[in-house]
Amino acid sequence: MPERRRQRTLAGLARVRGQGVHTGEKTSVSIRPAEPGHGLVFRRTDLEGKPLIPATVESIVWSKLHNRTTLARGQAEVQTPEHLLSALAGLGVDNVLVDLTGPEVPGCDNSSLPFVEAIEEAGIEEQDAPLAPLSVDAPITVRDEESGAEVTAMPSTRFEVTFFAEFPEGYFLEPQTVHLQVTPKAYREQVAAARTWIFAEQIPGLLLRGLGKGGTRESVLVIGKSEFVTEPRMRDEAARHKALDLIGDLALVGRPLRAHVLARRSGHALHAKLVQQILAAAT
Ligand SMILES: [Zn+2]
Repeated sequence: MPERRRQRTLAGLARVRGQGVHTGEKTSVSIRPAEPGHGLVFRRTDLEGKPLIPATVESIVWSKLHNRTTLARGQAEVQTPEHLLSALAGLGVDNVLVDLTGPEVPGCDNSSLPFVEAIEEAGIEEQDAPLAPLSVDAPITVRDEESGAEVTAMPSTRFEVTFFAEFPEGYFLEPQTVHLQVTPKAYREQVAAARTWIFAEQIPGLLLRGLGKGGTRESVLVIGKSEFVTEPRMRDEAARHKALDLIGDLALVGRPLRAHVLARRSGHALHAKLVQQILAAAT
């Protein structure tokens, strides 16, 4: 039987401050309760007219800078929203208005744990409205032939994700697999604390492109060819973070998903393609 529950919002205000991982700008998010059917919506309070940017697939924009998620409406942008969206989706929060004071969501330790803690402290509240989840009726697969990355959404009565992380030849890490049924408890225990990771050899290129300005040794797992350059929180932190990212990207469906999503070596761009196909199949 599909999970039956009501829509959820926050019981109070949740606030997180920090530095954007790419821009290095200090910003804050104030996550506010919102009415049923509202969805997850950002508001840029630093811009004239305080424009709204809904966290839906229509808001995704792709810059030339590879593998980043940016949402935008007109000139108003929200950079790096995925870890906050992951926390909201992982905890089953359906309706919030997120006030953001600059161009990028605070990165903090580049996991979703600071958001999870702030949301749990504010409290989660059921609303007087039924949930309208989105089910997948038949398997949907998207792939990138060049990289061999692939993502499939399979029919399921629950929301589950499986991430298969594989590392390039010459790296010391064995392939890692993470599977979870996305419940608030499993999300918090299995993926929330996993931080963003990067290969050491990618860092100079990232900095050259003007990105990664807010990254520190404590907030990013750096993987070298023969060892970890910074201390991992858990040995399979990389795969767990990929599952965290996947859950955040799937939040752009705009409704709670009932599917088992299996991903291999994929990133934000392919996840967005899957979201588009899931929505196209549902209409
Ligand atoms: Zn991430």
